[in-house]
Amino acid sequence: MNDTASTLDRVVREIADEMRQRTDRGEVATYIPELARVDPGAFGLVVVDASGYVAAAGDCDTPFSIQSISKVFTLTLALGKVGDKLWERVGREPSGSPFNSIVQLERERGIPRNPFINAGAIAVTDCILSGHQPREALGEILRFMQFLADDDSITIDNAVAASEQRHGYRNSALANYMKSFGVLDNPVEFTLGVYFHHCAIAMSCRQLAMAGRFLAQFGANPSTGLAVVQRERARRINALMLTCGHYDGSGEFAYRVGLPGKSGVGGGIIANAPGKASIAVWAPGLDASGNSRLGQIALEALSKRLGWSIFGA
Ligand code: GLU
Repeated sequence: MNDTASTLDRVVREIADEMRQRTDRGEVATYIPELARVDPGAFGLVVVDASGYVAAAGDCDTPFSIQSISKVFTLTLALGKVGDKLWERVGREPSGSPFNSIVQLERERGIPRNPFINAGAIAVTDCILSGHQPREALGEILRFMQFLADDDSITIDNAVAASEQRHGYRNSALANYMKSFGVLDNPVEFTLGVYFHHCAIAMSCRQLAMAGRFLAQFGANPSTGLAVVQRERARRINALMLTCGHYDGSGEFAYRVGLPGKSGVGGGIIANAPGKASIAVWAPGLDASGNSRLGQIALEALSKRLGWSIFGA
């Protein structure tokens, strides 16, 4: 093990130990009943550096519900499918609103502010679904995750998907509202079905950190050496993660952590230090904006101790 690897190992272990001792863990999401069953004491952290070295600590191999983290990957797929035409139906501005807010949609005639709030992600899912049956679209999303993580064992937690489907009144409202403006092409129930299921993909921190490598590596998949997306697209997805990846907590995340990142209400966050590392953290307790409380604290510590903020050490 070289010096950089041992420093990385030490920092990751230290942070996991510090997080284990904290009591201010936030609240586990309960609006999807199945998510409320998760252990609030769980914590995992994985960093994959540019050489492929993996530093891991805590519950790093426990699969959890990735929820909105999936939106980074569906955005990547949709851009691959329709390119910049996607921006005709989704914006690229931070919303400053909660993840499931409906107010902005009325003012902006059914065009969601960005691809990472629920409405935006539903519009992106609709784009992936066009020309396919829901099952095929979902298969494409799942295979993409498996390919990026280099792990065919990744699956969808059908109990979480069913639980969200049963309680998804707000997301149904968002989808129906967009449909009334012609922003969705497919039947609302098909689009929502695919959306709920891709949010219910279960992955561990290790699998997520692996899947995020292409964003840290300027679009390339280090396993194959081939481009997942062009360099310019990776840069742009990272820009959206930085500005919109944490809902109405995005400014605070950029201020404290200084890295592109995307959170999910399952308590996971993926982030990356461009050119340096892909990171995944999981701690199920959330803050008021629906972002993992300890996950953000851990990433702030990591970025600070390793001098990784994109704005300078
Ligand atoms: N599936 C969740 C929802 O649509 C995702 C929310 C999130 O992770 O922030 O409500």
